[in-house]
This record gives sequence, C-alpha cells and structure tokens, in this order.
Amino acid sequence: MTNPASVGLTAPRKPAVLIVDDAPDNLALLRTMMLRQGYQAFIATSGERALEIAQRIQPDLVLLDVVMPELDGLETCRRLKAHPLTARIPVIFMSARGETDDIVAGFDIGAADYIPKPLRMEEVCARVRAQLRLASGSDAQKEQADRLRMIVDSMDQGLLIVERCGRIQYANPACDRYLGYATDELVGRSLAELVARQDSYPDDCAAMEAIGNGTREVLIRHRDGGLRAMDLTMTPMHAADGQFVALLHDITHHKQSEDALQRAAMLDPLTRIANRRHFDAFMEKEWQRAIRNAQPLSLVVLDVDHFKLYNDTLGHAAGDLCLQKVAQALEAHALRPTDLAARYGGEEFVLLFGETPDIAASRLAEAIRTTVEALQLPNPRSPTSPWITVSVGVATIVPTQLDQIEQLFVCADRAMYAAKESGRNRVETALAGAAWETVRNAAMM
Ligand code: GH3
Ligand code: MG
Ligand code: MG
Repeated sequence: MTNPASVGLTAPRKPAVLIVDDAPDNLALLRTMMLRQGYQAFIATSGERALEIAQRIQPDLVLLDVVMPELDGLETCRRLKAHPLTARIPVIFMSARGETDDIVAGFDIGAADYIPKPLRMEEVCARVRAQLRLASGSDAQKEQADRLRMIVDSMDQGLLIVERCGRIQYANPACDRYLGYATDELVGRSLAELVARQDSYPDDCAAMEAIGNGTREVLIRHRDGGLRAMDLTMTPMHAADGQFVALLHDITHHKQSEDALQRAAMLDPLTRIANRRHFDAFMEKEWQRAIRNAQPLSLVVLDVDHFKLYNDTLGHAAGDLCLQKVAQALEAHALRPTDLAARYGGEEFVLLFGETPDIAASRLAEAIRTTVEALQLPNPRSPTSPWITVSVGVATIVPTQLDQIEQLFVCADRAMYAAKESGRNRVETALAGAAWETVRNAAMM
C-alpha cells in the first residue's frame, strides 16, 4: 500500500508479495519467480505465520495455498479480510482443488483470483501483475478521494451537497461550524428551511427554485435561532443529475463592519452623539409619525453661552472637551426611542422629543439647562455666569401635512435667541399660538 504522505516525494517502492504454501518446493519456485518480476518476496509456510507477517509488513498481495495443515487457506483469507490492517490486501488462491464449489467458496470469502494447480508460472506472474495493477488503480482513486476530502474538510467555506428540492446530503465541517450543528446533523434537513424568508414558498422545491443558481446574499438560520448573513453560491453538479454544490461564505463580520461604518456616518466625531444628518432623517420620520398619530412633537434648540470666550481663555482643546461634556449631559435626557439629541454644528445642539407636549418639553429643557450649569465647567471671562451655561429655545407642534419642518426650527431658534437676549442661561418657549401662526403665514405668503 502506498503511503499518501510520501506521494510525489519518494520513488515508488517495489510491490511486496507474500507467498504462503506448506510445500517448500513451491515456495522456493514462486519466490524466485516473484523476485525475477522485480517484486519483494516474503514467504510463510503456514496460515498462522502468514497472518503474522501480513500484519507486520502489509504486503501488496498474498499468494495463498488453499490446502494446508491446521489453518487452511480459506480460514487464513477470512482472518486477513476480518482485520482492518489486512482487509484490503488482494488474495490470490492457488489450489489443486479445481471444483466449481471450491472456486466459488474462495471468491465468496474475498479472494481476488483463483489459480489452479499445478501452477503455470507464466500464468501466475500475469495474474499477479493484473491484481497489482488493479490494486494500485484503486489505491490511486482512494488517494484522490482522501485528498479531496482533506480539502473539503479543511475549507474555510461551508460546502453542502443538496438535492434539487434542498435535501442536504452532505455538509462539511466549516458548514457545521457556521451553523452550529454537530457532524452529520445537517444531513437530511432542508436547505430551504435554513434560508430565512424562503418559508413563504408553497414547498421546498419552489423555495429552492427561488434561490436559483449563482451567488446571492442570504440570511441563514443558525442552530441557536439567530440569523447570519452569508453569501450562498449554488452550482449544479452535472455528473450527478439534480444535485447542487452549495457554498456558504460567512459575511457577518463584513456586515458588522458595514454596520459600524453606517453607525459612524450617523455620529458627530467629536461628541459621539448624533450628527446633523442623522437628526434631520430622524426628524423627518418622527414628523410623519406625528402627522399620522396627531401627536405633539417638541424641538429644543440649545446654544452654549459665551463659548468663544471659553475657547479664547482655556484653549480650543479645552473647548472640545467642554462640548463633549455638554453633549453627554444632553444625551442623558433623550431617553425614549422617540427622543434624539444631536450636535447641529459648532456649539449648537438640538433635541427632538417625539410625542411630547409643550409643558413636558419645557420641563425637559429646564432640566437640561440646570444639568449643564451643574457641571460647573468654569468659564472665567463670561459676563453672565462663572460656569458654562446654555440658552435654550423650545417649540412644540402637532404637525399636519401643511406644516413645514423648517417652521418648527425657526420657532425654536427664535425662542433660543430670545433666551440669549434676556440674559442667557435660560429656557424660552415659542409662543405656540401667535408665533407659530406668524411663521406659518409668512411661509405661505
Ligand atoms: P453666545 O453666547 O452669543 O452664543 O456667544 P458665543 O461665543 O458662544 O458665540 P459665537 O458664535 O461668537 O462663538 C461660537 C464659538 O464656538 C466660536 C467657535 O470657535 C467655537 N466652536 C465652534 N465649534 C467648535 C469646536 O468644535 N470646538 C471648539 N473648541 N470650539 C468650537
Ligand atoms: Mg454660543
Ligand atoms: Mg452659536
């Protein structure tokens, strides 16, 4: 037998033939013949001895006399076939018993060939040659299969062999690993059941047809119930009609970094709270929802007081730190899923409070103002307070299709400037009725 590890690295070794016969003359003659053919020859004069040698050297072929005292050839062959180390070694019987029953019995216990005695040496050599050729052919096939299996087993991609309607025939270890299954646990299951959103089809065949050939991104159900983003490539196996090779490539980590990028694109890099773009998109959605539900929506606009003086006194880096602290104080007040705090630009921040009427919004704005003041971030040259403070404007609306988001911003901005004008570090609320009507009328003119 050829050792797969040595394939291609060493010269092929000479085939080893074990000759078993209780007649020393036969042994000697056969040994000479085998050596002359270029084989290694080993000899045994009994069945017991033959089993011993066969296990030790694992010859490529056994020439086995049938009639021997004690362990005869048939029993010796049976034991060779029963042992995993020697089961695959081809055995050629040699016997003077040429009855059909004898020959059939020989083949039935696993013989590769049966040569009648008296031996014609040319024929023995030809039969040995033929068996060695066959064995090396099947060795090569096994080696190739072993090599393929090694590749499939060590692949990083999941590989499945599936029938036309999705029944899984085989799954490689990477596939089991991806999907959280034990070895062979996937066999017999349906690929269509594993692929999310394929359950709306009338049956597995229709679901598989929808998956089709080629590569597509799918969500695959992990054994733990979670979904994993994967690329699934379906390739028909032409040699095996109606079967497919399915390749699964886990792209969860790509997705995660994509998500991280997306999240980063929504954040203000300095303060790590929402940026203006995210706020505007969020506002748009909440606005539409407020129209549908006829719910009030409150916008809070907030500007740091005398921030230029802070920067000029303590430096830009300290200014950055100050903005981060103010941002955290704001975010701590945007608690519900319908709330959002954002840095709108420079030292100006905004908060949206969905489903929040004016009184509640003013209360929140006041809480934010006191929280910032309580941070006691010294602003030594500020003429209005020893600490960093904010001026806050609040505007509330129950929007209708006619209203514009910008109008709400204008109202909140005006309120904020009113807070600045009346001394800073205070909250002003847009006079919902009158001011709003003025803005609306101006916008509609
Ligand atoms: P007011 O009370 O009227 O709002 O006065 P103010 O000084 O806060 O307003 P002004 O608009 O004159 O100045 C805003 C300052 O904010 C000027 C600008 O350098 C500073 N600023 C804007 N963005 C940043 C930033 O990212 N980091 C730092 N450190 N400063 C910033
Ligand atoms: Mg300012
Ligand atoms: Mg400003």
